[in-house]
Amino acid sequence: APGLYLVATPIGNLGDITRRAETVLTLADLVVCEDRRVTSRLLRHLGLSRPLGLYHEHNAEAARPELLARLEAGGSVALVSDAGTPAVSDPGYKLVREAVRRGIRVHPIPGPSAALAALVASGLPTDRFLFQGFLPPRSSARRRVLEELATVRATLLLFEAPHRLAETLADAAAVLGDRPAVIARELTKLHEELRPGTLGSLAAAYATAGTPKGEIVIVVAPPEAPAVVEDDAAVDRLLAAALRTKRPR
Ligand code: SAM
Repeated sequence: APGLYLVATPIGNLGDITRRAETVLTLADLVVCEDRRVTSRLLRHLGLSRPLGLYHEHNAEAARPELLARLEAGGSVALVSDAGTPAVSDPGYKLVREAVRRGIRVHPIPGPSAALAALVASGLPTDRFLFQGFLPPRSSARRRVLEELATVRATLLLFEAPHRLAETLADAAAVLGDRPAVIARELTKLHEELRPGTLGSLAAAYATAGTPKGEIVIVVAPPEAPAVVEDDAAVDRLLAAALRTKRPR
């Protein structure tokens, strides 16, 4: 059927490709990817040989009109990224936005996604979460974004490059407080690791141990709920304390 297919692909273990992903990659008029080498490897694993178009950070502006024209003419296009779900910290959002504006059918082909895989295996609350993705690389900008997140009552999901892990954990500990956190590394791969700790203890551990290998999601627990006030006497004590601190100088 015509339309834009957003095809999730494995984040490590090639066995995670879905049957629908395989069908769509076989039947779409055109498969569009970030990196031909990466997607060729996947197609080879599936026993497929397809011509590949490119849609990545650096050619998206130029490639988008052609892809939209093809879709408007009734074609089918399968968009994949290097790993996981396209348009999540990966190219695709603007293409989807334009397709929706033009009334082109968009079909999600769901599958692996590093953020959700890390969340569900972390043991931290799953009822409410905020996906942040990559923080800014510079510490000052990074701390500003963390400040925006500090009062959010949700589990936080961050992507980070290995060489910045220790400094990002240290900034997070400083701005968010020393919350429980889990480092999810190399999910679905040979050296998969889920390492629990607190932001502070993990920052110290990675600062000492040096740069870890592989791909990383940081999962951070929500802030602790404020203490519930149980009885009138406690309310009086809290009010008295508040009044003492508010007394004008
Ligand atoms: N769209 C992708 C998805 O849905 O999973 C995410 C793409 S983003 C450019 C890549 C980042 O995802 C990596 O830097 C890392 O933070 C995270 N990631 C990808 N694969 C991973 C894995 N196997 N284990 C842990 N984190 C992973």
